[in-house]
Amino acid sequence: MLSKILSKAECAECKICCSFDSYDLWETPVVTDEIMERSLEVKPGQRFADVDGTRLYIMEKEPDKDLYYCPMLDHKKGCLLGDNKPFDCRIWPFRIMRFEGRRVIVISPVCPTVFNKPISEIKELAYELAPVIFAEADRTPQMVKPYIAGYPIMLAEDTSKTSAE
Ligand code: SF4
Repeated sequence: MLSKILSKAECAECKICCSFDSYDLWETPVVTDEIMERSLEVKPGQRFADVDGTRLYIMEKEPDKDLYYCPMLDHKKGCLLGDNKPFDCRIWPFRIMRFEGRRVIVISPVCPTVFNKPISEIKELAYELAPVIFAEADRTPQMVKPYIAGYPIMLAEDTSKTSAE
């Protein structure tokens, strides 16, 4: 979905979005029923946790480090789920947050590649993807996180238009 600003080769080199520390565990992807089934196909025995009504992967902490790798990550091949990865992963570094009562699409400052792209290109893609992203957030509201300072807002949902339709 992000091929206009992020190549598969750039992602393969990096994989930062597939590792977490204890401060950004909230960033781990929401696991829908479909994604859970697919995850169990590629990794039987994978365990999940229900955190405040949201299903997440249980991740093992790396010894002596504040670091957790997503269990779907193969360090040589990349994501075991291929193109069927969680929606959160398909749009990252875009995220949906709730800011002053509205849903907004933000950009994670953690992605070293996208964060250095021209802001005009990032915003243009955010506008292009917004209908798909908001529709998915309607189906999976757990994707919408409380706003976190430092995540630049690319666009806010036009609620007047939504309610008029
Ligand atoms: S599901 Fe795949 S893309 Fe998403 S965090 Fe895990 S390894 Fe990375």
